[in-house]
Amino acid sequence: MTKINWDTLGFGYIQTDCHIRYQWKNGVWDKGTLEKDPYLKIHVAATGLHYGQSGFEGLKAFRHESGQIHIFRPEENAKRLARTAERVMMAEVPEALFLDAVKRVVEANSEWVPPSSTGGSLYIRPLLFGSGAEVGLSPAKEYTFIILVTPVGNYYKEGVKAITAFVSEEYDRAAPRGTGNVKVAGNYASSLYPGQQAIDRGFPIVLYLDSAEQKYIEEFGTSNFIGITADRRYVTPSSQAVLPSITNMSLMAIAEHEGYIVERRVVPFTEISSFTEVGACGTAVVISPINRIVRGDKVYTISDSSGFGPHLGKLHDHLKAVQSGRMTDHWKWNLPL
Ligand SMILES: *Cc1c(COP(=O)(O)O)cnc(C)c1O
Repeated sequence: MTKINWDTLGFGYIQTDCHIRYQWKNGVWDKGTLEKDPYLKIHVAATGLHYGQSGFEGLKAFRHESGQIHIFRPEENAKRLARTAERVMMAEVPEALFLDAVKRVVEANSEWVPPSSTGGSLYIRPLLFGSGAEVGLSPAKEYTFIILVTPVGNYYKEGVKAITAFVSEEYDRAAPRGTGNVKVAGNYASSLYPGQQAIDRGFPIVLYLDSAEQKYIEEFGTSNFIGITADRRYVTPSSQAVLPSITNMSLMAIAEHEGYIVERRVVPFTEISSFTEVGACGTAVVISPINRIVRGDKVYTISDSSGFGPHLGKLHDHLKAVQSGRMTDHWKWNLPL
């Protein structure tokens, strides 16, 4: 039995009963095994270690009030992982295998899915990497696919706090025709340094502009950009270098359903003052409200609110309610276990 205090649960890694692990060799995936030991035995020349032939995913399982566990839109993560795999030449994980793996590992760790009343969830982290040995730069001949799970708490337990974003002027996240649109491991290692520099200056989140001209808004380090205008437009950047967020996709559908005009288009930074609300969206938090944006010596104040504005607050609550089963899931996003 788990001995977790759900009320104080944060966002760190907590070891659960097991992860699931599959190996790809000679063109086929094995049947996968549930493994208790969180340590891997890995070849010293694995391409995932040397050349970043590696990619990951992030999704969540929620316990509804009935006690039943639902996984949020796992087929979208399966599709995105397939695009990541193709871009860095890894063996593809078929969607059926991915879905089966998610279900098996959540089922085996079902005790770790927090009760509905806590607002917590089970974070699911799939990982695919080249585990075969190569010394020269070439794709591996063997791959490992893992899914680990760890329970996470309600991010806004102590209330929502709007944050200030820092525009990265010295470093880029992704090149226009690079790997920004897929979830490959290397994108995140390269954002650690600019992320830390922002933290050192007192800003918790980095906003990246397009790397060719520094003219257009792209996204935050690990979340997409949403701007809301006074005339109820939901604006989010369209760019080859942005990672297509499943949270953003879901929020766009909800926004449309609620009568907003949804615009996915190029967004010049000069439009920043036309937004009455700005948010950063992703699986971990759903939406973080951004009330100020700092670029060089300029501070752009989006709003004086210390929490959510009315629009992003409503969209955030709507998506959370669908995920936790408190509101109708018109879109059939929840996959029951
Ligand atoms: C994972 C990620 C997101 C959020 O995607 P979700 O599917 O909503 O979790 C946004 N931007 C980047 C760069 C990411 O890596």
